[in-house]
Amino acid sequence: MQYNPFENAQAQFDKAARELGLDQGSRALLRRPMKEFHFTIPVKMDDGGTEVFQAFRIKHNDARGPAKGGIRFHPHETADTVRALAMWMTWKCAVVDVPLGGGKGGVICDPREMSPGEQERLCRGYVRQLYNQLGPNVDVPAPDMMTSSQHMIWMLDEYEVLMGGRYPGVVTGKPLALGGSLGRNGATGFGVVYCLRDLLRAEGIDIKATTASVQGFGNVAEHAARLYTELGGTVTAVSCWNQADRRAYTFRKKEGCHIAALAEIKDHFGSIDKTKARAMGYEVLPGDAWLCEEADILIPAALENQITPAVFGSISKRVRVICEAANGPVTPDCDPLALERGILLIPDFLCNAGGVTCSYLEQVQCNMNYFWSLEEVLEKLSSAMSKAFAAVYGLAGERGVLMRDAAYMIAIERVRDAVKMRGWVS
Ligand code: GLU
Repeated sequence: MQYNPFENAQAQFDKAARELGLDQGSRALLRRPMKEFHFTIPVKMDDGGTEVFQAFRIKHNDARGPAKGGIRFHPHETADTVRALAMWMTWKCAVVDVPLGGGKGGVICDPREMSPGEQERLCRGYVRQLYNQLGPNVDVPAPDMMTSSQHMIWMLDEYEVLMGGRYPGVVTGKPLALGGSLGRNGATGFGVVYCLRDLLRAEGIDIKATTASVQGFGNVAEHAARLYTELGGTVTAVSCWNQADRRAYTFRKKEGCHIAALAEIKDHFGSIDKTKARAMGYEVLPGDAWLCEEADILIPAALENQITPAVFGSISKRVRVICEAANGPVTPDCDPLALERGILLIPDFLCNAGGVTCSYLEQVQCNMNYFWSLEEVLEKLSSAMSKAFAAVYGLAGERGVLMRDAAYMIAIERVRDAVKMRGWVS
């Protein structure tokens, strides 16, 4: 079965809207994006030729504040994926209660096959096509899948050249030297573990007695795995894409993966070196082995639609918690299966909201032109995540619904209130 992320996002929204008894106007407005930009970017390639890339920026809703969300570079990007992700950004910002709306961008490209110069020209081209639709008070991009603070700075620089001034708030996820925030890089992964920590505490489970299996070893997965092990948990398996072999592998060590050591043997594509990993005592298994790992916690931190009903049965009986660190990694038709098995699922737009929450803290610091210490940033991040988690967990318990539905109900109500107050719907 083919899953379309936008249809998934709409199905989840419709369910929560029914549960809430949402009025017809808000329902019609919020189930699709308000603005979409589809454009092409011609880029001069190093070989002298020109390649034309297809790009998107989609604003789902900006009633609560400027649109906010990452720009992804991916060879399989689609308009529907960007639509879904833009919609999830609206709920993400609302559930953590930051004054931002939802947007997302994407370019169909494979940065792993492009030189730094080609990537820079692509970033500048993206902004040239879109700059009058961006701005600190309009729409603020951030790094996302296969984009980094370097890509954001190329975009910021192009924007400032075109606008003739300094606009540090036009992107977030900036490097520290140019208005970035301490802690931003690890914030999404840390946020995942703040939610997990609070859930385990609420359920009376000692984190030190738990094991986890992680899908992905990018920025989110790596930082989540690092903090989880720092808090005493044991990561027994990590799956990671291998660019040279064009497939994923699972790296497994029953006594516990050493996350910092694994990070050291990543190549410049982000792939873990198999030979070095074997020499360090890791079993190298097929890419999907992470899912069958006998662990207490699964952390899918890679792509959407990874856990479907077709593979749900292969999840170990031991699994108690799934943390949706990626966006949409578990398809909506798995929700009843998780419920039946008593698996607690921390929904994506709550679980991975740490990144955008720290982006908000970055903007606050840029506006003040005064920067906090790492401890101050992490303290604010942790308390924002804890507050959001407690509200979702509490409502789920009170109403006897899944945490996903509770998170949707809280977020949708906040956005509904904003569109009503603005008079966009009656
Ligand atoms: N790309 C991250 C996300 O999807 C962060 C977005 C942001 O900081 O604007 O949540």
